[in-house]
Amino acid sequence: MYAEVIVDVSAYPIDRPFDYLVPEVYQAIIESGSRVKVPFGNRQVLGYITALKNETDVPTDKQKPIGELLDIEPVLTQEMLAMTKWLKRQTLCYEIDALQVMLPSAMRAKYEKMLRIVDVNAELPESVQALFQHKDSVELKADESKELLSIIKKLVKAKILVLETSVKQKTAVKKVRMVNIEPDVDRLQMIYESISNQAKKQKDVVKWMMDNVGTCIASTDLLKLLNTSNVVLNAVIEKGAATFEMEEVYRDPYAERTIDVSTKHSLTDEQQLALNEIIHSYNKHEARTFLLHGITGSGKTEVYLQAIERSLSDDKEAIVLVPEISLTPQMTNRFKERFGSLVAVLHSGLSVGEKYDEWRKIKRGEVKVVVGARSAIFAPFQNIGLIILDEEHEGTYKQDDSPRYHARDVAIWRSEFHNCPVILGSATPSLESYARAKKGNYTLLTLENRARGQELPQVSVIDMREQLKNGNRSMFSLELAEAIHSRLEKEEQMVLFLNRRGHSSFVLCRDCGTVVECPNCDISLTYHRHQERLKCHYCGEESRVPNICPECNSEHIRFFGTGTQKVEEEIARLFPTARVLRMDVDTTRKKGSHEHILNSFGEMKADILLGTQMIAKGLDFPNITLVGVLSADTTLHLADFRAAEKTFQLLTQVSGRAGRHDKKGEVIVQTYSPEHYAIQFAQHHDFIAFYHQEMINRKQFTYPPFSYVVLIQFTHEDVLMTAEYSHKAAKWLNENLSDTVEIIGPTASSISRVQNRYRYQCLIKYKKEPMLPDILQQLIRIYRTDWMKKGILMSIDLNPSSIM
Ligand code: ADP
Ligand code: ZN
Ligand code: ZN
Repeated sequence: MYAEVIVDVSAYPIDRPFDYLVPEVYQAIIESGSRVKVPFGNRQVLGYITALKNETDVPTDKQKPIGELLDIEPVLTQEMLAMTKWLKRQTLCYEIDALQVMLPSAMRAKYEKMLRIVDVNAELPESVQALFQHKDSVELKADESKELLSIIKKLVKAKILVLETSVKQKTAVKKVRMVNIEPDVDRLQMIYESISNQAKKQKDVVKWMMDNVGTCIASTDLLKLLNTSNVVLNAVIEKGAATFEMEEVYRDPYAERTIDVSTKHSLTDEQQLALNEIIHSYNKHEARTFLLHGITGSGKTEVYLQAIERSLSDDKEAIVLVPEISLTPQMTNRFKERFGSLVAVLHSGLSVGEKYDEWRKIKRGEVKVVVGARSAIFAPFQNIGLIILDEEHEGTYKQDDSPRYHARDVAIWRSEFHNCPVILGSATPSLESYARAKKGNYTLLTLENRARGQELPQVSVIDMREQLKNGNRSMFSLELAEAIHSRLEKEEQMVLFLNRRGHSSFVLCRDCGTVVECPNCDISLTYHRHQERLKCHYCGEESRVPNICPECNSEHIRFFGTGTQKVEEEIARLFPTARVLRMDVDTTRKKGSHEHILNSFGEMKADILLGTQMIAKGLDFPNITLVGVLSADTTLHLADFRAAEKTFQLLTQVSGRAGRHDKKGEVIVQTYSPEHYAIQFAQHHDFIAFYHQEMINRKQFTYPPFSYVVLIQFTHEDVLMTAEYSHKAAKWLNENLSDTVEIIGPTASSISRVQNRYRYQCLIKYKKEPMLPDILQQLIRIYRTDWMKKGILMSIDLNPSSIM
């Protein structure tokens, strides 16, 4: 018997399974989907069995046996193995990357360098003897034994020692020490009597055990309960009153939190209609994709909850994806409240061990609902009834590195495997999804009203150019400052939002709002700080940074951007009594800080919550009556064809934070481009009008959804090499792709150097090119066999979420 094994050897251009001989002992138990240790070159590596078979092309003298079978139960289901093949084709990744993305990181291999003595008769220098400490093999930690390396090298050359790489397993199951109390009460009585009266503490423990014969208790609990020490407990155990036993437990990240039971709402008519359609399709086992377009606060989450309830009643499982930043306790508690311990929450704040525990609970079917960020789409459920993507338009659903998958595509693939519906929910669906719904590829469901009947907040747009003309140089317009003062007086809360996405590197005139754009592409030129130049990332157009505005000749034209810290200082100056909580990447680095800030705000410990993108979503506090957007322009002028869409989405999301309960909400948006349609339509909460306008623009420049885009990026330490190979690739693509395909670039990327590697990129734009996957595969082959050796790194991203 032979096993096809995909090996975990990174940075090595192989992407095919290797055949290994299955040793006699494993033949009856081995299954595909299990992990193995296999010899590869002169070391042992981790591998995944993707198939078993009775024949191989490998000649007998070259056949190698599997070293060790690591899993008796396969860790990868048949569904996952099939999904791997699909992911590999879909995203052009290595199969090993596709396999590993489905498993918690605790299950991936760690390699350690082991040093082993082979010539036991040789004299070892004292320093090396000290390293071994009488063992015959030790782990070699390069940083700890630096001075020894040259001696070790000599000994290895002399064949006295060998250096081996071995696979280290990190799948530590957490165990606690349990105390098993003797079941025979007479025996305990005897032990009790044998203990001298001096040892009163021991007697107390045994006395207690006599009342609890035959039971089992965690030793830490017992110590706490009896207020006694380990020494005492060990003494009575030695006398035979109980035994110790290790028991497997899960790390529960929510153990400390109490959760209220939520009341189920009776649905509004709109909600009921939407739910009916979903359940109808669920009952028919349809793999149908629904686009649930509902304004903020329309009760989409309630629809999800009740749809899940239906699927749970059949004992089926549900996956709920939310963007990482909205994975707030406020959000996840709604699921915990409704479904209690049937819910597992997966987010980046969990430790490796905690993630592993949650994964095992899912695999064993001990939970039925998973709420998590992007990678939770791979939850190892085997009987899925429903998949939900909340905020489906979010760019974070696309993974930026290999495998570059979109969670939406995986969701739809899995729904076809399980014959179950998918719900894509959003107040601002992506253009692609809405267009698909319009064409009938998805089923459109609409919620037009807020669930509790509240009005959407009044949105005012403030023209910052006017402020400057009237002598106000502050980042707060008079209107916003006035609104803040009035909230402080009334003791109502507010959210101030600073729009900073990626790096906002464009040049803006503060007098007339002009942003310097590419003459060919209708996209902002990107400011390159290094060379002090402006560049277009679509066509390569380049120009110098103007000193005066090309429109109005003003000198107030410059690179644009402010940080939250600067805003905080300004608030302190203008509103000295205001209590401010700041939430951005700097203040949320520590685990739990996110939750801590939100709790403080919920407990009214601050008047103002100041933050970036991460406060745009999921907040639901009754006392927020004002939302201020300090500058709407940053996303508006990103060098990305989705700039307007992203701005519209963001403004709609932040506006949705105000006046969600009884108090009416107000939103103030400051901008240098008040006439821009993204801002205008966001002001009037008009997604449909925005959609139509944006589709006209996309069509004119054939951007998605009127075309598909592929981004190819090249990096190298040497800028000339980067340029040379990106040109080679572009030339090769030009020769091999049909004439209808547009190849844009190569140009330097907007972040032109990262970690001392220069970055260039090409963009492929096409409508129909059936041969494209094959041609890209060929390009990858050229890259892996030739360019990689020169130190070039190339990445291909199909349908990238951003092209910067
Ligand atoms: P969305 O997810 O669309 O933004 P939510 O599900 O968060 O909306 O609902 C907004 C608010 O309305 C929540 O506080 C929720 O508890 C409440 N809600 C939802 N559905 C109903 C309903 N049918 N009746 C009353 N309140 C509801
Ligand atoms: Zn100007
Ligand atoms: Zn251009």
